[in-house]
Amino acid sequence: MKKLFLIIGAPGSGKTTDASIIASRHSDCMVHYSTGDMLREEVSRETDLGRKIGGFISKGALVPLDVILNTIISAIKNAPVNTIVIDGYPRSTEQMYALNEILEKEEEIELTSVIEVQVSEEVAKERILGRIAESEVVRADDSLEIFQDRMKIYTAPLAEIQDFYTKKKLLKVFNGEKSLDIVVSLMELYIRARVN
Ligand code: AMP
Repeated sequence: MKKLFLIIGAPGSGKTTDASIIASRHSDCMVHYSTGDMLREEVSRETDLGRKIGGFISKGALVPLDVILNTIISAIKNAPVNTIVIDGYPRSTEQMYALNEILEKEEEIELTSVIEVQVSEEVAKERILGRIAESEVVRADDSLEIFQDRMKIYTAPLAEIQDFYTKKKLLKVFNGEKSLDIVVSLMELYIRARVN
């Protein structure tokens, strides 16, 4: 049985950093995929699909449902270990319901928890602006204007997503404004307790 953890959080919440640190500490049994990273990898391969994806990412828009669903389902199916942490999904109610439908039919994959890394819009904005200032390779979607669009896209379906997973007793919220060490330690404890 594969155990799936989903991590959601605003741009700048630190979700990818948190998850990659935790997975690297448990690489014998845990793997982490970031939807943004997987999509950017496809863009860098310069395939037709990559060019299509790049058009959405550079605008801060969500890629179409079939693209993201294929991306995460093949990551889950091909995962080399049984604990899979995916950050950046779901980002819409459409994505949430689509995955739910798939998982209802899937006996080999259990959605163990949905983790939300919560930060205020101010903190998220400061972090993204910091990332722009520090980075040598600027991400195509790291600009203040696009940040605001991404924030709106993140926030719009959030209440329905929280509600859906709360009713399923799967939602766990972490305060992403605490220091990286603290967020990582708490999240690591939480995940490990549900894996062993
Ligand atoms: P991230 O690195 O998580 O900030 O994601 C960067 C970009 O990748 C997003 O702004 C979207 O364009 C795209 N993306 C990432 N995750 C998803 C998703 N679940 N659904 C659709 N597009 C996504």
